[in-house]
Amino acid sequence: MKLVYHDRFLGHRQRDEDHPERPERLIAIRDRLQAEKLWTDVLEPQPAAAEDILRIHHANYIKTLGRMGEGVWDRDTYVRPETLEIATLAAGAGVLAAETAWTGRETAWALVRPPGHHATAASAMGFCYLNSLAIAAARHVALGRGRVAIVDVDVHHGNGTQEAFYDNPDVLVISAHESPLFPGTGTTDETGMGTGAGLNINVPLPYGSGDATYRNFMGMIVEPALRRWRPSIVLVSFGTDIHYLDPLAGLTLSSQGCVELAARIESLAAELCDGRVAYFLEGGYHLDSLSEIIAAAVGRASGRKVKLKFTDVKDTAGTAAGVIDFVADRIEQGILVPA
Ligand SMILES: [Zn+2]
Repeated sequence: MKLVYHDRFLGHRQRDEDHPERPERLIAIRDRLQAEKLWTDVLEPQPAAAEDILRIHHANYIKTLGRMGEGVWDRDTYVRPETLEIATLAAGAGVLAAETAWTGRETAWALVRPPGHHATAASAMGFCYLNSLAIAAARHVALGRGRVAIVDVDVHHGNGTQEAFYDNPDVLVISAHESPLFPGTGTTDETGMGTGAGLNINVPLPYGSGDATYRNFMGMIVEPALRRWRPSIVLVSFGTDIHYLDPLAGLTLSSQGCVELAARIESLAAELCDGRVAYFLEGGYHLDSLSEIIAAAVGRASGRKVKLKFTDVKDTAGTAAGVIDFVADRIEQGILVPA
């Protein structure tokens, strides 16, 4: 179990102090991990290499971001003179987490800001500038290390990641997300194209979905899909904005429900790829639930128990049975994740 983190991530700020994607998120995580004596094995990243970034992003976009100075990119994504530098360091942290998982056959966590999964080839959006996970995944494939499985459990659809690998035969992308919600993409009929046909799996879930629904999502979709795919590494976009306390969305996972997602992904990675799994911090805007979930997930991977406070189970019956059955059937039939 390794953590990847840099204090420089605290220097990244959106326009307003009360923007939900703020430095206090990482401070809360770091403080909680320290209090739990889990702040050990922390690796310091280097900025991502240009050649790694340019597999995912257009050179003109990077140039524009670097020369912009300060200003509004979109309604909730602000650019400052240091934004590109810090996003490049976050991408480097993602690359290091994947590298560590690969060489050490272990779990690694990239505890980063800014997040990345909404960033597209040519644009920042939704608090994201560089798609750190996509950059690490493309590098893994370019180095000839084999197939990648991406699981995105942030409450928002990982549109940037979907776009990056939509026609890629080496990368399976699975995203569960609340729908309708920002960014508005992520329907079940977005399934990939060309040599990537059938390798993009979306599971849109209604307001209120929580623990029981995500148990079905893991058991009926993620586990069978990854067993068919047999990845050499699993990369996870991990957002705790699926929690019932999160102010930006309407799903209802408990803290233990979020930790269970990480636990099941790790069991799968142990079964399929020698335990190689890297987590990338995406969203999660309620500081106390965010920090306890990350601490408990990190603790679990290190064999240590962390006491949880936000444990109300609000979804015991499961929602979206139609969507989950539909996607599960298509995996079973080999329409999704073709051999
Ligand atoms: Zn999110």
